Amino acid sequence: MAEEYRNYIGGKWVAAESGEMFESRNPANRDEVLGSFPHSGPEDVDAAVQAAEDAYRDWMLTPVPERADHLMRAGLILERRKEELAELMTREMGKTLKESRGDVQEGIDFLFYMAGEGRRFFGHTMPSELKNKFSMTVRHPIGVVGLIAPWNFPIAIPVWKIAPAIVAGCTSVFKPAQDTPLLATLLVQSLEEAGLPAGVLNLVHGFGREAGVALVDHEGVRGVSFTGSLEVGRQIAEKCGRAMKRCSMELGSKNVLIVMPDADLDLAVEASAWGAFATSGQRCTATSRLVVHDAARKEFTERLLERVSGMKVGNGLDPEVELAPVINEQQKQRVLEYIEVGKKEGATLLTGGEELTGDGYDKGNFIAPTVFDDMTPDMRIAQEEIFGPVTGIIRTDEIDEALRIANSTQYGLSASIYTHDITNVFRAIQELEFGIVYVNAPTIGAEIQLPFGGMKSTGNGHREAGPQALDEFTEWKAVSVDFSGKVQKAQGID
Ligand code: NAD
Repeated sequence: MAEEYRNYIGGKWVAAESGEMFESRNPANRDEVLGSFPHSGPEDVDAAVQAAEDAYRDWMLTPVPERADHLMRAGLILERRKEELAELMTREMGKTLKESRGDVQEGIDFLFYMAGEGRRFFGHTMPSELKNKFSMTVRHPIGVVGLIAPWNFPIAIPVWKIAPAIVAGCTSVFKPAQDTPLLATLLVQSLEEAGLPAGVLNLVHGFGREAGVALVDHEGVRGVSFTGSLEVGRQIAEKCGRAMKRCSMELGSKNVLIVMPDADLDLAVEASAWGAFATSGQRCTATSRLVVHDAARKEFTERLLERVSGMKVGNGLDPEVELAPVINEQQKQRVLEYIEVGKKEGATLLTGGEELTGDGYDKGNFIAPTVFDDMTPDMRIAQEEIFGPVTGIIRTDEIDEALRIANSTQYGLSASIYTHDITNVFRAIQELEFGIVYVNAPTIGAEIQLPFGGMKSTGNGHREAGPQALDEFTEWKAVSVDFSGKVQKAQGID
């Protein structure tokens, strides 16, 4: 029997009121059940929001460094448990053990980074135009927040939300993805062990259409931090707009890597293979378009195919495996459908394009690494996020066109250019409509001290991580203290 886990509400581990449960299974081996989890509904969300509301006043009045110290302790706990968490992550969502370790490390790094922010939490001082009047800005928490996360970074993405919410003085209800409830539970356990007071962070497991919707709709929730698909993000942003709730959106993308004739092809090929196929292409920053200059195209393509053909596909716990399974059956079908769309649209399938079956593959969701050639910018496979191990080459013969193609989707998260031409480097930096731009580096692999987020339909202008992280969870308050002993009027009014 699989172990039964619970929600965490008001400092207690509790079952869903309905008593219903759902299972988390290993995408490399569907027979392995990692646990069963509460299938929560609106009543559980309501209890969690109530607990967060009850905890809010004391928490917002707790000194910021004291709030942040919990993050330091939680980071040390994750550091101690890193290997165990990484292994469970690979079993719960599939990616290779190396990448799972990176995910946990990113969580640890950001907990430490945000712990430091607790001793900064800077505001500004400004001059007043009047005598004996002092002006400054301070941050104010936005209140109870809902944190909704995807499954592809089960520790790092929740930490990007939970840590700044804690430092900001918000209390929160965290609704993790239904595909990674175990890792979410272990993360929340670490924060409990770190001494976080009851109600400051609450965990409600379940599905988007029930627990997720109830959280977004709840009147007690003042802000929603969402990472996931454009489709769901749009629905949430519309609701938040009507209710005048703060919302931050980190959504899909169609990232691009440009290869110019002077590129170091060894590096460009390796970056393309890593960017397209790490986490089986299920990163929001995955390299799903390769815009390659005609002068480099033949050699680049040959070398990329050679590199991809050497990739071992299998269970992420096997250290030799480079390409692990995709998250679930539904996602596997979606990726396979996109491959068919690509063929019908006239792209040339160079390698892959199929589900892997047979020995070692029968119980998992495995798709061969897939590369298309002759992809054109208007094709659906060049425009829509596939979120699987599929990439395609688009040809170009000059930088203006390469940049135009790069910008030609509705998304704008991560873009890269491989070149040593200084003019092309700075033109790319200036003209690419992406929140993250790399020069001679892969599109994946963001570092926590840099702001993370995208332009256009990838988001709504917010950034996670980096110095901007606190903006998601705080309001700016302008404060003026008049010690003149008079009622002074600004703008020169007598
Ligand atoms: P998803 O949108 O299906 O689900 C994300 C989360 O939202 C889950 O917890 C889900 O239960 C919940 N949810 C679903 N419907 C909901 C609703 N109507 N109301 C409230 N909550 C709801 O996305 P996913 O499949 O988990 O993740 C993959 C997507 O996430 C991809 O599009 C990927 O690009 C994106 N992503 C973006 C970033 C980024 O920072 N830009 C990072 C990682 C993933």
